[in-house]
Amino acid sequence: MTEFDFAVIGGGSAGFSAVSEGAKLGLRTICIDGAAEVGGLCILRGCMPSKTLLESANRFLTLRRASEFGLSAGHLGFDLGAIRQRKRTLVNEFADHRRIQLEEGDFEFARAHASFVSPHRLRLDGLDGSVREIGFRTALIATGSELNVVEVPGLAKTGYLDSDIALDSARIPPSIIILGGGAIALEFAHFYNALGTKVTALQRNAQFVKDADIDVSAAVTNAYRRQGIEMISGTRLVAVEKTGDRKIVRFVKDGLEQTVSADEIFYALGRRPAIGRLHLDAAGIELNGDLVIGTNDQMQSSQPHIFAAGDAGGQFEVVHIAIEEAVIATRNAARLLNDEKLSSIDHRLRLIAIFSHPELAYVGLTEREATASGRRIRVATYPFDDHGRSMVRGETDGLVKLIADANTHEIVGGAVVGPEAPELIHEIVVAIHFRAKASDLAAIPHYHPTLSEIWTYPAEELAAFE
Ligand SMILES: Cc1cc2nc3c(=O)[nH]c(=O)nc-3n(C[C@H](O)[C@H](O)[C@H](O)COP(=O)(O)OP(=O)(O)OC[C@H]3O[C@@H](n4cnc5c(N)ncnc54)[C@H](O)[C@@H]3O)c2cc1C
Repeated sequence: MTEFDFAVIGGGSAGFSAVSEGAKLGLRTICIDGAAEVGGLCILRGCMPSKTLLESANRFLTLRRASEFGLSAGHLGFDLGAIRQRKRTLVNEFADHRRIQLEEGDFEFARAHASFVSPHRLRLDGLDGSVREIGFRTALIATGSELNVVEVPGLAKTGYLDSDIALDSARIPPSIIILGGGAIALEFAHFYNALGTKVTALQRNAQFVKDADIDVSAAVTNAYRRQGIEMISGTRLVAVEKTGDRKIVRFVKDGLEQTVSADEIFYALGRRPAIGRLHLDAAGIELNGDLVIGTNDQMQSSQPHIFAAGDAGGQFEVVHIAIEEAVIATRNAARLLNDEKLSSIDHRLRLIAIFSHPELAYVGLTEREATASGRRIRVATYPFDDHGRSMVRGETDGLVKLIADANTHEIVGGAVVGPEAPELIHEIVVAIHFRAKASDLAAIPHYHPTLSEIWTYPAEELAAFE
């Protein structure tokens, strides 16, 4: 039986980063992935295909607004087949590149489904029908996530789209009900609305993007309403049914039962770690109260030599965090083998972005989190509708928000709802990384007229308190 220093289950964003790092550190490493198609969620059915579709939607919206800018764009329309084909071409290119990286890395790459046999052994069921066992000294679970289908009476029978199906669908329905209020819900709501679908979004929580501050959530929610999207939060789903061609969702809001109907339903109520078929009990791994692996800050499961990273860990579902967790887990696996002190992940720079319309991004602490932790903070915001560059672009929805510690004056959080939010937020990521104060940010030159210079206004407001 082959014995590995480091066995990585999953070859997605987290798994690939881990095996690359493991090989660099000189560990005898194996990457095991059981999918028929190599690439992982981000490349095949997540970030890249969704952003490719959104790119078409955004450019279509620009064309639709041509006359506002003194332009004529002639007959406007779209070809969903061509949009899908562009997406497929790009996804194939990204996936091919990843497959080659996995096949040619300094580690073994096994196309097999892995499950634990014991705390130090894995069974590999190969895609070619072969079965073998391997031994490992340390391992990483990087098996990603799957759709978390909650029980709603009638939903399964009525039928619905999810992100996997919608990303490759040949049809844009005339109307759609989106169940959910997170990133995937907001991105698809924007996609369908841009292409002319009548969209209704139903969110369980009192606010869309439940983890963002209320003013940040409200900025994007109100902008969606102005675009004609019906945004209903604070709902409890009761049942789903079909009458003729119409799909009907019954829900309770403010104690009253209401219904909405549409041609299609899009399910975006969340994902859960894909750990059900790993036989974690055979490895002696215990799940936490939320039934996830729930690692410690060193990325260890309840079995110290078995780590978890990415969506499988059940903490965040974003790629850069999956990669960061995987690299820390790998370095800690090597340290464990050498009896060295383990390092910890630092969530100070936690960064989230949503490619909605307007876009949304936030980093570090939210105002709600900072206040709840008892930290004294100062907060300043500035709206895009009073900013020259965004007025020139005709993109005036939204705001920027800066949060500084009232004692140290360090910037501890920031948020953007508005044009290029996922790009603009990186200025605050860098500021927080270097523990900059608001006065540092205000003093840094910002070219005029740029979107970036909007940061100087809240920075100057906060700097006045230093
Ligand atoms: C529609 C959509 C859009 C998204 N957009 C963004 C975005 O814009 N930005 C962002 O940061 N994130 C985005 N995400 C989230 C992001 O895609 C994930 O957080 C990320 O891809 C998770 O990476 P991972 O390595 O944890 O899992 P994955 O990439 O899913 O990799 C897991 C791998 O493990 C393999 N595997 C599973 N079980 C086994 C087993 N038992 N044996 C062997 N192999 C196994 C699978 O085949 C798979 O290849 C999006 C997600 C979705 C669904």
